Parts: sequence; C-alpha cells; structure tokens
Amino acid sequence: MITLFEKKQDCCGCTACKTICPVSAITMRADKEGFLYPEIDKALCIECGHCNSVCAFQNNGVKENNYQQQIYAMKIKDDKVRKESSSGGAFTAISDVILENDGSVYGAAHDVDLSTMHIRATDANARDRCRGSKYVQSDMRDNFRLIEEDLKAGKEVLFTGTPCQTAGLISYLTFAGCATGNLYTADLICHGVPSPAIFQEFLRYVEHKTKKTIKEYLHRPKDTFGWSHNEKIVYTNGTFDDTSKLALIWKTLFYSNTILRPACITCKYAGIQRYGDITLADFWGIEYSMPEFKDESGVSLIFINSKKGEVLFDQIKDKILYRKSSIENCRPYQQNLQGPSICHINRDDCWKLYHKHGFPAIAKKYGGYNKRTIIKEYIKLFLHKIHLLGIIKKILKRQ
Ligand SMILES: Cc1cc2nc3c(=O)[nH]c(=O)nc-3n(C[C@H](O)[C@H](O)[C@H](O)COP(=O)(O)OP(=O)(O)OC[C@H]3O[C@@H](n4cnc5c(N)ncnc54)[C@H](O)[C@@H]3O)c2cc1C
Ligand code: SF4
Ligand code: SF4
Ligand code: SF4
Repeated sequence: MITLFEKKQDCCGCTACKTICPVSAITMRADKEGFLYPEIDKALCIECGHCNSVCAFQNNGVKENNYQQQIYAMKIKDDKVRKESSSGGAFTAISDVILENDGSVYGAAHDVDLSTMHIRATDANARDRCRGSKYVQSDMRDNFRLIEEDLKAGKEVLFTGTPCQTAGLISYLTFAGCATGNLYTADLICHGVPSPAIFQEFLRYVEHKTKKTIKEYLHRPKDTFGWSHNEKIVYTNGTFDDTSKLALIWKTLFYSNTILRPACITCKYAGIQRYGDITLADFWGIEYSMPEFKDESGVSLIFINSKKGEVLFDQIKDKILYRKSSIENCRPYQQNLQGPSICHINRDDCWKLYHKHGFPAIAKKYGGYNKRTIIKEYIKLFLHKIHLLGIIKKILKRQ
C-alpha cells in the first residue's frame, strides 16, 4: 500500500504528488492545524508509485550547482513600486521582464477572503496582486498543471514562491517530461509558513473585537514605519490599525514559531545552496556593510544562482540601483540561511490550547495579547493624550 509520508514533518504541501497522479487519486485536505496534506483515495489508486518518486521534499537533497553564485543589494528605481514591495522591489523588476515577453508570472496573492493562494498573472494588474509578502502558507491549487501547459505552449514562465514550492515544481516538471528551458524561478529566503486556518481565525477575532469589517491586510506596509516588519489592518470604514497590540498578534505568532507548518522546522532548503535561479530576500544588516545604500524604502538582497538568473538580472539592470555584495555581509542577519527556524518548545501546548479554548487563548498566551500588555497600551495612550508621555521620557533621560 502506498504511503505518502511517515510524519507531518516530511510533507511541505507542494502538490507535486497530487499533480503527477495519473488517476487523480490524490486530494489536498486540511488537517486539524489547517495545513493542506495529500490524501490518497485507495479505491482509485493503481499503486504506480509516481507520487512517492516525485516528492522532492523527501527524496532530493539540495540541488547540485556549479554556478558561481553572485550576491547583490538592489532597489528598483520606481519609488512607488518599492514602497509597495516588501523589500527592494526585486520581484516586480524581474516579473516585468517576463510580462514584456508575453510570458506568465506565478506568485502568491490574496483572495477576496484574504486567504493566500498562488495565481497565474499575464498582465501587470494581476501581477501586482502578488506584490508584498503574505506570512501564511499559500495554496498552490492547480498551478503546477497550468505552468506545465504554459511551458508546453512555448511561453516564458516565472514562478515565485518558497524554496520547497520551487523544488516541488521543478521535480514535478522533470518527472512529467516537460521541457523547462523557458522556466525561470525565484525562491525566497524563508522563515516558514504559518497556518492559513489560524490566519482566518485571527481576522475574525479582530473583527469581533473591533466590531469592524476588514478590507485589507498588509504584512509589510512601509507607510508608517518604513522598511521594517509591522503589520496593518485596513477596515471598510476607512480606518486602519498598524500600532495596537491587536495588530501585532500575527507578527508575534509568526516569530514565536508556534504555528508554522511542521515541515518548516526540518526544512532542508534553509541554506546558501538554492533551488531558484534567483533568490529574493530583505537585505537585513546592510547598514553594517553598505550604510550609504540603506534607506527607509527598503533594499532587496538577491542571489543569482544560475545562468538563467544571470540572464534575467542583466535585463533589469537599467531599472534598478545595485551593488555587489557577499555571503559574509548577509548571512549573519539571516537565520534561515543558517538553518531552519527553531520550533517553539511549547508548540504542542499552543495547539492543545487552541483546540480546547480557541484562537483567543493562543492570542493571549503566544500572540502577546493579554491583560498586562493591553493595560500598558491604554496607559501609554492616555499619557500620550494628556501630553505626559513626552515629559516622563524627558525626566527619565535626565536621570
Ligand atoms: C513566508 C515568508 C517568509 C519569508 N522569510 C524571509 C526571511 O526569513 N528573510 C528574508 O530576508 N526574507 C524573507 N521572506 C522574503 C521577503 O519577505 C520578500 O518576500 C522578498 O524579499 C521579496 O520582496 P520584493 O520586494 O522583491 O517583492 P514583493 O513585491 O514584496 O514580492 C513578494 C514575493 O513573495 C511571494 N510571496 C508572497 N507571499 C508568499 C507566500 N505566502 N508563499 C510563497 N510566496 C509568497 C510573491 O509571489 C512575490 O514573488 C519571506 C517571505 C515569505 C512569504
Ligand atoms: S510531493 Fe509535496 S505534497 Fe506530496 S508528499 Fe511530497 S511534499 Fe507532500
Ligand atoms: S501510487 Fe500512483 S495512482 Fe496511487 S496515488 Fe500515487 S500516483 Fe496516484
Ligand atoms: S521553511 Fe522550508 S518547508 Fe517551510 S515553507 Fe519555507 S521552504 Fe517550505
């Protein structure tokens, strides 16, 4: 009997096995943490074993590559685009090249309910929906099949996503015998992906608490705090929140590593060797190696990992500002170039708590949204209102 994986940690949910199955016996279903896993319908399965063979996450180590990797700091010249991008706008710059050649771009976008899924974009409007990081696992749906169709039709394709999605796609196309000469891939340095179901619960929780309806959710807005990581909730009544403890819950949960997919904790792609032709990231720590190139609108860190990546990079050079860098200048500030994220010691407790008492309980214990922090926030707000905060800060500074 065919088994797809022994432990949850062995499956990243890439969909390669589902897509390769010749009799459509595999369906992606959410487990009780809300992550999608492949499930075999035994009545349909003909035991061909393709699903096991195609699984890059379990079978393949990191791709061997003799290419002399190049590392750059870069910023797209278009300031508006850079401000809307999470880092320095590298994704828009490279995807423009593909769109100009009538190709298709695949990336993660928000659906109407703010869930995250991969989409196919053939124009700038659809591509812009993929702009900006979404710190939630993206649902791949049938995109591997669509990419195969595009490539077979002779189109250029740019796929952007997490390293495990990129590895899964390459493995699928190779196994399916699809020529990949026109495929360009950009993977991300990846901290890990939180549960999509918990994200939906978080949104409902915020709506319940505020009695407002959420219109938009931005994981990396730059308008208030510049290039950093704070999150922003935009409501249908025109108000927004990017400072309160409520608006900080998702970020706090994300970095607590309590609600990441189990596979992220054993991720084999958290290193310098990459699957993508290009790797996209934030150039954290740039102030130490290139202070003159840092600014508040964001700087991308990019790795050129192959000849194809170099070809793509050559075509964006007139639209970007860039400086050559090195692994020594970026690796110390990127935990996920050094290894996978470390599992929270109480991950199991977090999920037990969630299943017993629901989202409010984990928001309180692991998302930093508890009485102490809320009271502190109210006091701060009150002091600010009566102009006392500035005076207290001045007194403390003097001491
Ligand atoms: C879950 C996650 C974890 C990350 N961890 C790190 C990290 O530890 N260190 C670091 O330096 N950078 C990390 N990044 C990458 C960083 O946040 C930016 O996405 C990247 O630098 C691209 O920025 P940009 O300005 O070039 O383009 P943007 O316009 O911001 O484009 C965003 C790109 O990310 C893709 N994307 C967005 N959300 C998802 C998703 N949920 N799943 C798959 N692809 C997605 C889009 O398809 C697009 O290609 C992470 C991104 C994600 C989504
Ligand atoms: S191919 Fe992808 S979805 Fe299927 S078992 Fe492997 S990692 Fe999971
Ligand atoms: S063994 Fe073959 S038929 Fe059965 S689920 Fe896997 S790919 Fe499908
Ligand atoms: S951390 Fe690894 S397993 Fe998790 S989403 Fe990123 S690449 Fe995939």
